[in-house]
Amino acid sequence: MKALFVEDAYLSTAEALVTSVREDGGIMLDRTCFYATSGGQPGDTGFLERDNGETIAIAGTVTGASKSEIIHVPAPDQPSPEVGEKLVLHIDWERRHRLMRMHTACHLLSVVCPFPITGASVSETDSRIDFDMSETIDKAEVTAKMMDLIRANHPIYTKWITEEDLDANPDLVKSKNVRPPRGQGEIRLVCIGEDAAVDSQPCGGTHVTETAEVGEIHIGKIEKKGKENRRFRIRFGPAPD
Ligand SMILES: [Zn+2]
Repeated sequence: MKALFVEDAYLSTAEALVTSVREDGGIMLDRTCFYATSGGQPGDTGFLERDNGETIAIAGTVTGASKSEIIHVPAPDQPSPEVGEKLVLHIDWERRHRLMRMHTACHLLSVVCPFPITGASVSETDSRIDFDMSETIDKAEVTAKMMDLIRANHPIYTKWITEEDLDANPDLVKSKNVRPPRGQGEIRLVCIGEDAAVDSQPCGGTHVTETAEVGEIHIGKIEKKGKENRRFRIRFGPAPD
């Protein structure tokens, strides 16, 4: 199974062959542009188009026994494809693009707030990141710093490094609890800025290619979750007065 979104996050449609249909109805393909839920980013929704024009609505995409196994979960009462059948895949691009903007905003927040991350969740309207920190930070100041990075329109690109490279640069990993997967060879770094001047960190999610594409965002709330944990919420649009 080839995960096409790894090299091209902007691929909203692709052709693929059905390799198997699970007992629970989950559809497996030889290649896919559907991102599977991982690293705090929800999986794609959309539909699969058959040769006869019939469509199979996909309610979600998840990983199976291993991260490289991607399962397309049909909505209830959808037709089931045949093994070997050719399908045209269509992701819900509007939703995915919002998730890409939000996910990228999470990276920018981790630049503005350089504290260890203990949890993160990306959604279409509201994302949250939990930081291991006891400092009190003004949300308007965080919003202003994030918007500076967005307006500067830094490029965002990926780069593959070896596990040895990562071991030699342990500071690249910002998550306290989640380590990048080991034993699969290369690790994908997501870099922001020329020569990664703004940031670089291991990530398998989907991102926009320049920071201005994130658009206007603001920190909606900073909640205190225990003595050494702060939960930040990122929202689209300007901060309300
Ligand atoms: Zn990411």
